[in-house]
Amino acid sequence: MKPHHARFRFHGCLNDFLPPDRRHVGIDYRFRDAPGIKDPVEALGVPHSEVGEIQVNNVPAGFGYQLQPGDQVEVHPRHPAPPAQAPRFVVDVNLGRLARWLRLLGFDTLWRNDLEDREIVDISVEESRIILTRDRRLLFHRDILDGYWIRSDQPDRQATEILDRLALWNHIRPFLRCTDCNGLIQVIAKETIAHKLEPLTRKYYDRFFRCSQCGKIYWQGSHYGNLMKKLQALNHARDHYHQHQ
Ligand SMILES: [Zn+2]
Repeated sequence: MKPHHARFRFHGCLNDFLPPDRRHVGIDYRFRDAPGIKDPVEALGVPHSEVGEIQVNNVPAGFGYQLQPGDQVEVHPRHPAPPAQAPRFVVDVNLGRLARWLRLLGFDTLWRNDLEDREIVDISVEESRIILTRDRRLLFHRDILDGYWIRSDQPDRQATEILDRLALWNHIRPFLRCTDCNGLIQVIAKETIAHKLEPLTRKYYDRFFRCSQCGKIYWQGSHYGNLMKKLQALNHARDHYHQHQ
């Protein structure tokens, strides 16, 4: 029996997943039977978690739609509205610097360098965490509800990219989380920790914070300055990013 044909076209940033000769053009797809439309989308290289609206022959279709001979399929990226609450993340093992960035910005970010792919998927599902990864294959796992494939390989640009693509700029909360362990930071009375401070720190600073989980101490000296510099850099990157969209 001869295979059926359908035509797929991917829009916007979904083309990042395609080889150059398949970007922004109609792609001929051959198939047998009537596969659910999620299968050809992923077979062509696009993780389902990145997909927003799908139109088949100009009619909106869900992932349950079964492909028919001659279908013209338009696949659009998702454009999330800014979420009401800050999302939580689980970050792939090789993205430790990004994880620190996200914690610095106040996002609940689970990261360990010893997690297996399967554990990342399970944590994502059980704790409703968005998977952030540079490994697109991870996002093809069928259990995944929410994941994002990071395009950039620079940690600061990765942070900007995520804030932008997931519409999170309004959820930045500096000095909320420990960059080392993701624990919540609390204000702590100076006298409680005075014995742990270097003499100059004790002399010049009065406002201190401590991680409720690992006990790391933060104060509005060098930490604060560094954080502000990073936030400035991020805002600069944001402007730059928008100029090139
Ligand atoms: Zn900590």
